[in-house]
Amino acid sequence: MSRKPIIAGNWKMNKTLAEAQAFVEGVKSAIPSKELVDTVIGAPALFLAPMNYLRQGTELQLSAQNSYFENAGAFTGENSPAAIADLGIEYIIIGHSERREYFGETDEDINKKAKAIISNGLTPIICCGESLETFEAGKTSEWVEGQITAALKDLTPEQVSNLVIAYEPIWAIGTGKSATSQIADDTCGVVRSTVEKLYGKAVSEAVRIQYGGSVNPSNIAEYMSKENVDGALVGGASLEVDSFLALLDFVK
Ligand code: 13P
Repeated sequence: MSRKPIIAGNWKMNKTLAEAQAFVEGVKSAIPSKELVDTVIGAPALFLAPMNYLRQGTELQLSAQNSYFENAGAFTGENSPAAIADLGIEYIIIGHSERREYFGETDEDINKKAKAIISNGLTPIICCGESLETFEAGKTSEWVEGQITAALKDLTPEQVSNLVIAYEPIWAIGTGKSATSQIADDTCGVVRSTVEKLYGKAVSEAVRIQYGGSVNPSNIAEYMSKENVDGALVGGASLEVDSFLALLDFVK
């Protein structure tokens, strides 16, 4: 079964508005057709509205990096998934290891966020991944299976078919020490078989799974050649126009 690749940049807490706008201007005419690949930038929430304006009529898609699970109310400082949907943004990243580690996000929060995002018509990109300690203890599979099972709780097969899961080993994030393509494929395979156990074969063959962790223009083609890897979630190498566009060269 062929799944459309999805390459997403995660800018994290980087760039000024002027830099974000210059980036969109720099990439917008060079993004391959949405028929071939989904190309996404996960920008700080502050920049989504102006970036959305600049990317109209182009192939560039946009993602938030987080949202709350309620649509409105007394939640000072949070961003509403309904408001993000109203802007016309397509995706919201949830459960990134930095959110789990620094902001105390739990599996239960991530499950609530996934439901809220889907009910607003957006696609969640749900992150999972193990620490170095878990990796070295040989417990990656059970860890990832636990995170995915919790994140998907009570979602329907149709909802799961349409979402995106990103496997990002914490030890490979921002370290330059990327997982081998074999490890990426094996663990994305664990994610896929977890989805199969919960929802059956058709759903597991439809769900798209990205690898993330020190992906760059020179190693992306190797990851993309793997059976279970449908895309990449990219931090550092997504920040500059040239390196971001080079991530898409494998499509040609
Ligand atoms: P790097 O590509 O900088 O390792 O970051 C990966 C990541 O955390 C993307 O979400």
